[in-house]
Amino acid sequence: MSDIIKLLPDSVANQIAAGEVVQRPASVVKELLENSVDARATDIQLILKEAGSTLIQVIDNGGGMTESDARMSFERHATSKIAKADDLFSIKTLGFRGEALASIAAVAQVEMRTRTEKFELGTEIIIEASRVKSQSPCSTTVGTSIAVKNLFFNVPARRKFLKSYHTELHHAIDEFVRIALVNNDITFSLISDGKTLYHLHKSNLKQRIVGILGKEYNERLLPVEAKTDYVSISGFIGKPEYSKKSRGEQFFFVNRRFIRSPFLHHSVEKAYKELLPENSYPAYCIFFEIAPEDIDINIHPTKTEIKFTNEQMVYAFLSATVKKSLGQFNITPSIDFDDNPGINIIPGKHTPASPPSIRINPDYDPFAIKTSGGLKKEPTKEDLNDPDYLDKLFGTPENVSALIRLENENYAPVQQVITPNWEDDDSEEIPQSGFLQIGTEYIVTNVKSGMMLIRQQRAFERILFERNLKKRETKDCSCQRLMFPKTIELNPVETVKMNALLPEMKEMGFDVADFGQNTFIIHGIPAALSPDIDPEKMIHELIETEDIGIKNVENNNGHRVALFLARFVAAKKKGKMTEEAINNLINELFATSMPTMTPDGSLIIKILSIEELSKLL
Ligand code: ADP
Ligand code: MG
Repeated sequence: MSDIIKLLPDSVANQIAAGEVVQRPASVVKELLENSVDARATDIQLILKEAGSTLIQVIDNGGGMTESDARMSFERHATSKIAKADDLFSIKTLGFRGEALASIAAVAQVEMRTRTEKFELGTEIIIEASRVKSQSPCSTTVGTSIAVKNLFFNVPARRKFLKSYHTELHHAIDEFVRIALVNNDITFSLISDGKTLYHLHKSNLKQRIVGILGKEYNERLLPVEAKTDYVSISGFIGKPEYSKKSRGEQFFFVNRRFIRSPFLHHSVEKAYKELLPENSYPAYCIFFEIAPEDIDINIHPTKTEIKFTNEQMVYAFLSATVKKSLGQFNITPSIDFDDNPGINIIPGKHTPASPPSIRINPDYDPFAIKTSGGLKKEPTKEDLNDPDYLDKLFGTPENVSALIRLENENYAPVQQVITPNWEDDDSEEIPQSGFLQIGTEYIVTNVKSGMMLIRQQRAFERILFERNLKKRETKDCSCQRLMFPKTIELNPVETVKMNALLPEMKEMGFDVADFGQNTFIIHGIPAALSPDIDPEKMIHELIETEDIGIKNVENNNGHRVALFLARFVAAKKKGKMTEEAINNLINELFATSMPTMTPDGSLIIKILSIEELSKLL
């Protein structure tokens, strides 16, 4: 039999590689912006049309490329950033694989204009589905402009998979924000469908964060800064009282590269612990600087995962640093640390601050580390090699090794859902009375197999959610008009989220008008809401739940407002109930489509079997 193995043509190989690098317009945004940063641009402009699906253009004033480099840049594995395998261990640039431009050009129509300082004329290259259509000299300014048009025009299956305008735009803005945050010495702008969403001048880090997250953050941020031989940490964290219901404002950067890390996130949360209300998340923007040989950034093609050689050390050190900052700075009234450059909280260099006064929980002592060591001194090399160092610092790190495993497996911790063995019970046998309220949050009753425990508030959530869906279906959501309309000002990301929610909000009884310039006017709220709620605060909460973080929401798309309102109203449903009210609640709960679980997957009911009870007592 003749030989059958052939090398794939470049265009095919590039298209396959593109599957990894280019998932959606946001991936292109990331790669192009990173290239401009790597080219040492000081001014970078991103232009999007139709959330990037028809145009993603990045214009920079960086070093530009010569004619032959311009041509080479579209070859696979063509990079100016590493030359030999050893260089992989000392990467200082964002890109290094030499794959991005080749991959992008395989699945789009690309027009590049570029010029270096040395030459009077630049080069224009037009390339489509890996095929060079034209290459010619052109007059252009120093730097590079790359326009990526009609992404996936030649891969209809991928184009079909693009999500809604708002989702894609949201992802693209996320990438822009991640790069703009860490490069505060560069001027960035983002223009989407002719509207300028951001124009961020070169500034200090705090001003950059405020420019992105909104001016109210000026008063909400606390600095963090600490250093060991192994790693240094800097950045800002949000004051606990401004924590939000979503994780949208959480950023980690390692050597100026954005990374995701449930593991490090856990470490920050641990530091905030008692300071945060349930289910709320602090904002943070934290930078790690670490020797390149102590991390591995090559473990994921889109490079947002990272491994440290000493993860436990980073975990402990981060937690302690955040704790320290919360303790030292979280005092009322807030101080403006910008006016006080002398503040320096490198552990060990200063005596600990006097006991902090914290508004939320006066008993919380950020320095109450269980053991003697604490962070009174900088961890030494010996400390870092001591396997028990963490234990000494924080007591047994119950979750650390589990978290490392989770991180390795690329999971975010997921809540385990146990479905009670409900079907086995004859539903006719659910007693219609005999319910007992325990405290203000639980209801118990006797069932065939044991004791049924019902979480009151979650039962309300399920019921209200289904009522909301019905009302929406029958167009029966009435609106109560506000006596005084409220104006609400959002940041660009929030505006995108708000616009995505507006159609459902209207159907659910909101009367909100888009006033342009990231401003909305609330004329009315759903009639089902209590008239004395703060509509502005509620809408902020609602926007936060729009975050992609929410998992398990039934028919995820389109029911966010219904779910939010159910939760919002149910949250107020703690309290003593009359027997009649309990009976009504139970009856209505069992009339819903899924009485055992809330729409986002938390258990409402648990049956404790006689066996389980006997173990208890
Ligand atoms: P990588 O960034 O991994 O090297 P890319 O495919 O993204 O790979 O880019 C290939 C090469 O093209 C880069 O190494 C760089 O030399 C050049 N290049 C890409 N974009 C720009 C730009 N905006 N300005 C200057 N050079 C660029
Ligand atoms: Mg690159």
